[in-house]
Amino acid sequence: MTEVLPSGGQLMVVATPIGNLGDLSPRALDLLASADVVYCEDTRHSRTLFSAHHITPRHRLLALHEHNEAALSLEVVERVARGELVVLISDAGTPGISDPGARVVAAVAEAGLRVSTAPGPTALVGALTVSGLATDRFVMEGFLGRKAGERARSYAAWRREARTIVFYESPQRLATTLAELAREFPSRRVAVVRELTKLHEEVLRGTLAEVAEEVARREVLGEIVVVLEGGAPAAAVDEEVLSAALGEAMAGGATLRDAVAGVVDAFGVAHRETYELALRLRAGGAT
Ligand code: SAM
Repeated sequence: MTEVLPSGGQLMVVATPIGNLGDLSPRALDLLASADVVYCEDTRHSRTLFSAHHITPRHRLLALHEHNEAALSLEVVERVARGELVVLISDAGTPGISDPGARVVAAVAEAGLRVSTAPGPTALVGALTVSGLATDRFVMEGFLGRKAGERARSYAAWRREARTIVFYESPQRLATTLAELAREFPSRRVAVVRELTKLHEEVLRGTLAEVAEEVARREVLGEIVVVLEGGAPAAAVDEEVLSAALGEAMAGGATLRDAVAGVVDAFGVAHRETYELALRLRAGGAT
């Protein structure tokens, strides 16, 4: 292989494995071994990666994490300006993807200095590509907000989101998130991708209703990415049409909850508004 290490000062954003250590590219290895300084999230964690690959760094290994990234950006800029090869890694995957990195990259770029990358693993792309869902257009949501209101706002926006939606989720919150999503979009397809490139790698595929039910029944552990099918592009649906559909379902014996779920699914409309409409209908009020 020809040697492709950069000369002159620059910041290299280097991807590291998300599980399988064999996913560290030869170029990433060269950069880690020869950089003047490597910034990482957690020095102990990254030393494990170095020793697994028998890298004896000639550089300094320094911690750059979400709490000191802003403060350290100037230091990184100064090093690059002095002609140093500065490598940035995170604990796993690609720096800047739900990890520190974006601010320091912006600072170096704004100073007119060179930023490049040794690209590689990221759970986002890995999960998307094994999901079985459309990969031509997608949107990455990072981690969902923890507050009910933030999540409700995300779900409302996803109703009109035609692109595939990708987000990171913790195992503790997965069942709740899927149950919430299944109420909103029961028939949308979803892939829950966990432990990619590791021993217990697994992909659960199905409709949201199916996968939410499975996850409610058994514990799903490990690192998780959720990939959700996009919806039909927004088409305004007349409230009279919705009232008629709700009225018909309830007259046919459906519970209010089932009638709402059916209409939400059929018309791609918001759950909360449809539920309120159904309550008004049941109370005998006009729409
Ligand atoms: N920078 C990383 C990347 O490029 O994917 C992401 C860092 S973020 C702090 C960590 C989250 O990524 C985990 O909570 C999980 O949602 C996801 N993740 C990381 N490794 C994973 C893996 N091997 N399988 C599935 N998801 C993974």
